[in-house]
Amino acid sequence: MRVLKFMHHPLGYHFAPAQDQIEIDLTYLCNLRCNNCNRSSAQAPESLHLELEQLRQFVVDSIEQGRKWKRIRLLGGEPTLHPQFEEVFGILDPLRSLYPDMKIEVVSNGYGEKVRRKLQALPKNIWVENSSKQGNIQPHFGPFNLAPQDTWWHRWVDYRHGCSIPQECGMGLTPTGYYPCAVAGGIDRVTRQGNGRERLPAKDDNMRDLMNRACRLCGRFRDGYFVPYNLRPPLDEQLTSQSWQKIYLNWSELKNKNLATKE
Ligand code: SF4
Ligand code: SF4
Repeated sequence: MRVLKFMHHPLGYHFAPAQDQIEIDLTYLCNLRCNNCNRSSAQAPESLHLELEQLRQFVVDSIEQGRKWKRIRLLGGEPTLHPQFEEVFGILDPLRSLYPDMKIEVVSNGYGEKVRRKLQALPKNIWVENSSKQGNIQPHFGPFNLAPQDTWWHRWVDYRHGCSIPQECGMGLTPTGYYPCAVAGGIDRVTRQGNGRERLPAKDDNMRDLMNRACRLCGRFRDGYFVPYNLRPPLDEQLTSQSWQKIYLNWSELKNKNLATKE
């Protein structure tokens, strides 16, 4: 009810991105191919990495805007597979010096020897969230690829409300720019819209225009709030609605065309 179009004006938007947290997708490369991956690292695999220059600019912009980040999460894809992964922490150091309480966290699948070695070599002041995945089936994942826009009852919702993810985890910085959440950046990569903001958005920019484009495709919009794992029905298969079938088909056709041009 709260996200219906006619409810917006009296009550305002339901969710807003946290302004003191950010999720940075270092790469879309991953050594797993999980069903329902919300970065499409399995459905549309690509070695697309965040440029270190983007990270340097993020630090400069953060200082200029006086952003006191409470938490910076580094993820992806599998973040440890970024080709310059070790250099990332030195680039973030100026922020750490300004705000010693800032938490830097690496979110990893913990899968395979190479990934585990990289995690072990991390500086001691870096937090690690290791999901210790063992394979491609993640029964607690939600159906990311069931696009709300493919169901008639979403016809009357205002997608600019977003969901609780930006509110709980902050905005996203990805190889294609800034978004209200990192999931929206992953959607923009495969839809090739190129909509991300190029520089760190001002604090009053909640990027509602980008939510409007991404949330209509994102299965997470259906829940709104986080649903505890024990209350979800287990999901053992990849579920893909019509819009996403078309998006992945276009994505792979374009990729093959680009490959053919290069040869
Ligand atoms: S480990 Fe994470 S990023 Fe990699 S395919 Fe699985 S869900 Fe996606
Ligand atoms: S519905 Fe998806 S794209 Fe929209 S805010 Fe939530 S996680 Fe981000």
